[in-house]
Amino acid sequence: MAKTVYVDNAATTAMSDVAVEAMKPYLQGIYGNPSSLHSVGQRAKEELEKARQTVADCLGASPREIYFTSGGSEADNQAIRSAAYNGAAKGKKHIISTNFEHHAVLHTLKKLEGEGFEVTYLPVDKNGLITAEQVEEAIRPDTALVTAMYANNEVGSILPIKEIGAVCRSHKVTFHTDAVQAVGHIPVNVEGDNIDMLSLSAHKFHGPKGVGVLYCRRNIPLRTFIEGGAQERGKRAGTENLAGICSMAAALKDAIDHLAENMAREEEMRDILIEGLSSIPHSKLNGDRFKRLPGNVNMCFEGIEGESLLLLLDAKGICASSGSACTSGSLDPSHVLLALGLPHEVAHGSLRLSLCPENTVEEMHYIVQEVPKVVEYLRSISPVWEELEKGERPHLI
Ligand SMILES: *Cc1c(COP(=O)(O)O)cnc(C)c1O
Repeated sequence: MAKTVYVDNAATTAMSDVAVEAMKPYLQGIYGNPSSLHSVGQRAKEELEKARQTVADCLGASPREIYFTSGGSEADNQAIRSAAYNGAAKGKKHIISTNFEHHAVLHTLKKLEGEGFEVTYLPVDKNGLITAEQVEEAIRPDTALVTAMYANNEVGSILPIKEIGAVCRSHKVTFHTDAVQAVGHIPVNVEGDNIDMLSLSAHKFHGPKGVGVLYCRRNIPLRTFIEGGAQERGKRAGTENLAGICSMAAALKDAIDHLAENMAREEEMRDILIEGLSSIPHSKLNGDRFKRLPGNVNMCFEGIEGESLLLLLDAKGICASSGSACTSGSLDPSHVLLALGLPHEVAHGSLRLSLCPENTVEEMHYIVQEVPKVVEYLRSISPVWEELEKGERPHLI
């Protein structure tokens, strides 16, 4: 197999034909500035508002609750800071989150701790889940915000968002969810799921990079962090990325229109990988086996380094990840795998394979054939594996 097998779709996806075609008219034809009063600008404005309506329909929201941003990270930052400062204005400076969020959330929370907020990080269980009861027990009279991700980007576990949202609503606490890995991949509806604020990112569902959405329920005041013009109802200044926004709307609608069939395709391929790779001795599937994104596989193999595994797989045309793209390059094991309770030694030997509907069953068989060979080779040259085999240190998985 000479061609590249790309199984790192949780890091980013290729743009779909639908998304590329939807972008083209705005690069040259409909190039106006939506804030201009003349007809060229107003034409652009019209298309911007159509895209807002499409995104709103896909989420079960109203168009005036949709704010376009530069991506998931910006949406997370704006949502969390807005809710935190809204709370602080009423004397509420407590926030609840989990210990396995994306860094866009965790680093924002760390900054807020430096500003005098107190954050409770709920510990996820060994499968990467928390319960609504855990959230309810942590809520205090001064809790301003609960922020919990819809689905984890590394281990694919899907949190009970609807139940967490219901708990937050009954205690009148604002609920934000980073749904970047969920939207376009599993059903998400802001009404049905009791969500007050939600972040999404186009490049995780075959749209363009650098564009995303913050959904903010109409009764929640959104704060402005990028000052300038009156775009996005004064909440986010800057000339709109019209081509990106219209392309994102088309990609999202396409994903939602084909959601059931895409999920079934991904699940079939995912399960081939899980079954095939689980036969490697001293391996372990990370994340919940069932409450799991249809396209996520995350495994640990004892006695090897994830980075070496990735490089050797890359040489065979397989593009995967050891965890999140954001932490790659650092030698620390993933905070997500540590949150699941894996020992450092085991967390180092991780492999994440994240699929999209364009992957093929043939590719899955190729991966199942090649990964065991590479693991076996790396173990044959690993001093740690030698100690494990001689019984000089205990197997942990
Ligand atoms: C990718 C990702 C983000 C960041 O989105 P960008 O658009 O790349 O800024 C945030 N949260 C999660 C869970 C992600 O997977």
